[in-house]
Amino acid sequence: NTTPVTVIGLGLMGRALAGAFLRAGHPTTVWNRTAAKADALVAEGARLAPTAGEALAAGPLTVICVTDYQAMYDALGTSEPLLSGRTLINLTSGDSAQAREAARWAEGRGARYLDGAIMAVPPVIGTAEAVILASGPRADFDAHRPALEALGTASYLGTDPGLASLYDVAGLAMMWSVLNAWLQGTALLRTAGVDAATYAPFARQLAAGVADWLPGYAEQIDNGAFPAEVSALETDVRAMAHLIEESEAVGVNTELPKLIKAMADRAIAAGHGGEQYPVLIEEFSKPR
Ligand code: NDP
Repeated sequence: NTTPVTVIGLGLMGRALAGAFLRAGHPTTVWNRTAAKADALVAEGARLAPTAGEALAAGPLTVICVTDYQAMYDALGTSEPLLSGRTLINLTSGDSAQAREAARWAEGRGARYLDGAIMAVPPVIGTAEAVILASGPRADFDAHRPALEALGTASYLGTDPGLASLYDVAGLAMMWSVLNAWLQGTALLRTAGVDAATYAPFARQLAAGVADWLPGYAEQIDNGAFPAEVSALETDVRAMAHLIEESEAVGVNTELPKLIKAMADRAIAAGHGGEQYPVLIEEFSKPR
């Protein structure tokens, strides 16, 4: 596929994106506020546009990846009339409201707009490991899927342009929760002289085992019924107390264990002690 592509924003991520397009054979035009960041890409065959407007005008498809949504508006600012008739794929991180607002902004200027998110670090861009999320009009995703596939594994999430950002932040919750749980366990084990590298493979197996529960638990959430098939929440809460007590006894941080138990205690107080763990979705689904 040799569709011409424009990349605006050549930070760590933008340079990785432009490099992947080049290596996949896309004629690639680039623009960055600080032009010198294009040097290596130009040496690889990219064309450096003198202005953001000329970069937009270079072809039908522009991918933008800058610090935040304000940086996107700043970068495209005076060239926005040139958006008309073009497709803008915004891979800048942000929240769902910003994404929906940007979709209205771009569509109001006659552009087709997909909002995306990148769940990968720059070195894996261009490999199947890089997860590229996109949401917005299906036809626009289908039209530009081959280009997105040059960046990684592209997933279409739905017509609501906010979805890619929502999935992105949902993924952040997963990432930090898994890492924090692992760090808690590592801190506990280090008090007995077990080093992090010894625990890591064991922890990895535990995390994978827990991940296997998700489809069945998701069914309970979607059905709104939480029969205790393997364990009741009140049993889990006793184990949570052990985690807190052990952490206190060996002198490591108890904030995370206490947070976990506080939520479960509230669910039990609300009468859910005999139900299964995913009943906690009710705690997670209200503001606090
Ligand atoms: P960098 O800080 O390396 O690059 C930021 C880019 O934004 C630069 O091109 C910078 O231009 C540009 N920029 C910032 N403000 C403005 C402005 N007001 N006007 C015009 N251009 C501006 O960040 P990354 O490349 O790492 O990140 C870019 C996006 O990608 C972020 O939203 C980030 O969350 C996301 N992302 C990054 C990941 C990573 O591992 N790096 C992973 C997943 C997502 P200049 O060079 O002139 O300063």
